[in-house]
Amino acid sequence: MSGERELPAEDSIKVVCRFRPLNDSEEKAGSKFVVKFPQGGDDNCISIAGKVYLFDKVFKPNASQEKVYNEAAKSIVTDVLSGFNGTIFAYGQTSSGKTHTMEGVLVFTGDPQKQGIIPRIVNDIFNHIYAMEENLEFHIKVSYFEIYMDKIRDLLDGATERFVSSPEEVFEAIEEGKSNRHIAVTSKIDSLRLIGIFLTYLIFTDMNEHSSRSHSVFLINVKQENLENQKKLSGKLYLVDLAGSEKVSKTGAEGTVLDEAKNINKSLSALGNVISALADGNKSHIPYRDSKLTRILQESLGGNARTTIVICCSPASFNEAETKSTLEFGKRSV
Ligand code: ADP
Ligand code: MG
Repeated sequence: MSGERELPAEDSIKVVCRFRPLNDSEEKAGSKFVVKFPQGGDDNCISIAGKVYLFDKVFKPNASQEKVYNEAAKSIVTDVLSGFNGTIFAYGQTSSGKTHTMEGVLVFTGDPQKQGIIPRIVNDIFNHIYAMEENLEFHIKVSYFEIYMDKIRDLLDGATERFVSSPEEVFEAIEEGKSNRHIAVTSKIDSLRLIGIFLTYLIFTDMNEHSSRSHSVFLINVKQENLENQKKLSGKLYLVDLAGSEKVSKTGAEGTVLDEAKNINKSLSALGNVISALADGNKSHIPYRDSKLTRILQESLGGNARTTIVICCSPASFNEAETKSTLEFGKRSV
C-alpha cells in the first residue's frame, strides 16, 4: 500500500549532476578541465562552452560520497520505509563515475570516501529498522538482474527474490550477482582456450565492456506489518546503474556492437521519454511500454514514487561532446 497523496512532479522527480575529477590518463593526454561551476548560489548550476545547465543539485569533483548520499539519496530511505516506491538511476557515459556513485565499495574499509549510495542505503534501512520501537514485523527481499539487449538476466542464480536479514546478507547477494555477471562473460570467450595473463586481461576488458553495455538493476523490497493493528506497508526501491550512454560512431561499429548500441540507445531514449512525460504532468500517456527497462520500472516511476537521476560526467575536454549530451538528457528531465 502506498501513500494516498499524489505527488506533484517537482517533488517526485529530482535530477542531480555529479562531475568526477580529471583522471590520470586524461591529464597525461593533456585534456583540459572544461567545466565551470559559477560561484555563489545554491550549487545547482554548471557551465560548459558558455552554456549554463541547472539541476536540483550539482556535485563538484571533490564532493564526497557521503555528501552525494546525504543530499541526493538519503531521503528515499524514509520514503521506502513509509511505503513509497522509488528509483535512483545513474546515467552517463562509460567511466563517468556511475558505478563509483551507485556502489563504490560495499563494505566499510575504514575509508569513508569509498562507500557509494547502495551500501549506505542498505545500512540506513537496517539501522532504521533496528531503532524502531513499534511492534512491527519486517520482511526484506532483494533481487538483482541485468537488462542486456532488451532481455532480463537474473543474477541471483534463478532465485528472483531473496530474503535478507542483515546488511551483510545484502552485500553477499550483490557480490554473488556480480560474479554471475562475470561468469556469463567468461564462458563466452572460454572457447578461445587462451591461457594465463592474456586470458585474464581479456576477461577483465570484456567484463568491463559488458557491464557498460547492460543496465544493472538492484531491487530492495521492504514489507512491514504492524502486529498490533495489522496495518501493512510495502515499499520497493530500484537502484539502477545504466548502460553507458556514449554514442557509438556509425562508421566504426558493426555486428553485435552496433546491435548493442542501438538497444542501449533505444532504452535510454525510452527512459528519457517516460521521465519527460512524467515531468510535464502528462498523465494520459506515459510510454512505459517502449522498452523492457521502463516496463520493469513502471511501478516505481511516476504516481507516488520518488525518482532521482544522478547525471554522471567527465570534466575533460576530450569528453566534451558526450558531457554536453549527458547534460542535455538531465536537463530535459527536470
Ligand atoms: P562508470 O561506471 O560510469 O563506467 P566508474 O564508476 O567505474 O565509471 O568510474 C571510472 C573510474 O573513475 C573508476 O576508477 C572510479 O573509481 C573513478 N571515479 C569515478 N568517479 C569518481 C569520483 N567522484 N572521485 C574519484 N574517482 C572517481
Ligand atoms: Mg560502471
